Amino acid sequence: MTGIYARLGVKRRINAAGTLTRLGGSLMSDAVLDAMRDAAQGSVDIGELQSAAGRAITRATGAEAGLVTSGAAAALTLAAASCIAGFDVAKMARLPDTRGMPNEILIPRTHRNAYDHALRAAGAVLVDIGHNDRGTGAGIRGLEAWEIDAAITPATVAFAFTANPETIPALPGIADACRRRGLKLIVDAAAQLPPASNLRAFIAAGADLVVFSGGKAIGGPQASGILAGKRDLIASALLQQLDMDVDPARWAAPEIVDRARVPVPPHHGIGRAFKVGKEEIVGLIVALENFAARDDAAHAAGLRARLEAIAASLPKGRTRITGSRIPLLEIDAGDGPAAAAKLQAGDPPVHIGERDLAKGVLLVDLQTVRAADDAKLAAALARAIT
Ligand SMILES: *Cc1c(COP(=O)(O)O)cnc(C)c1O
Repeated sequence: MTGIYARLGVKRRINAAGTLTRLGGSLMSDAVLDAMRDAAQGSVDIGELQSAAGRAITRATGAEAGLVTSGAAAALTLAAASCIAGFDVAKMARLPDTRGMPNEILIPRTHRNAYDHALRAAGAVLVDIGHNDRGTGAGIRGLEAWEIDAAITPATVAFAFTANPETIPALPGIADACRRRGLKLIVDAAAQLPPASNLRAFIAAGADLVVFSGGKAIGGPQASGILAGKRDLIASALLQQLDMDVDPARWAAPEIVDRARVPVPPHHGIGRAFKVGKEEIVGLIVALENFAARDDAAHAAGLRARLEAIAASLPKGRTRITGSRIPLLEIDAGDGPAAAAKLQAGDPPVHIGERDLAKGVLLVDLQTVRAADDAKLAAALARAIT
């Protein structure tokens, strides 16, 4: 199981930090791997396969349509490209050069994060709105509807919303404001799973497009993601992702593309640079179906029981289990940064969540730890704390 990494001289690490991309993201189940292996040995029309993925995404999310991307970040770029270009093949051909075309996306200041780059990669210009009074402690007011109105210009195409448990309550109101003003609402829900019910929550709350990571809790391929939403927006995104070196006379467009509105095939679009393989598409479909059918409470209880066993091997009074959707073990380590450094320098190297490290707290997340490694992890933690 560790064979390929050993042969390549790459250390296999215990990742108790969560589904982080830089540590390889989720671990895949045999069911997902079997499907990918099957897919790898047969040829298909990728547009037809994406249509099947779309049907699976529709069933899981309640959205009109969906496609598999090479990650949630890629889905954000495609979302922006779709809102900017629509079915205009000349615009598709020009992206990310958006000079002279509507290209502005409104974003609350409090929702800015490092994945904004993915929206800008399509040529979108982000327009900050609202204050960050709660973030700075300067006051209590959040984004208000008039601030959306004041920011809208003829160049505005969309509104970008970053979902997390704190921002989600504001979503229905913002969706309503966007609908009344003709703005497309893009929701970044990359890491808002579990609960599995969130697969449907953002579409139900009025999002036009929502993105999820395939390589986080869903347990799909690390380089996979989901873009789900309105049929025409998804069709535009798909056209800008697919390989389009086709003869216009014999072009078999994917089923969600309205040929009356796209009479000629576009050229390779901006998403051609982050294409998705048949293996990732199939792996994502199977992982999504399994994730949607999973019992969140039973899954969390399983993780909690493993955390309790690890905590039992650590000094009394230094640990507590928090988090309900994804249970976490918090460990008072004394010198947090020193403990984290010691864990990373160990054999095997161990990575823990570092959010509260400055307070001396190590966070242990078992989503990406194989149960067979729990004893090794517990021993490393016991050695690292002071
Ligand atoms: C992880 C994450 C992404 C990127 O997801 P990938 O699937 O790795 O591309 C985007 N936005 C947020 C908020 C995330 O947490």
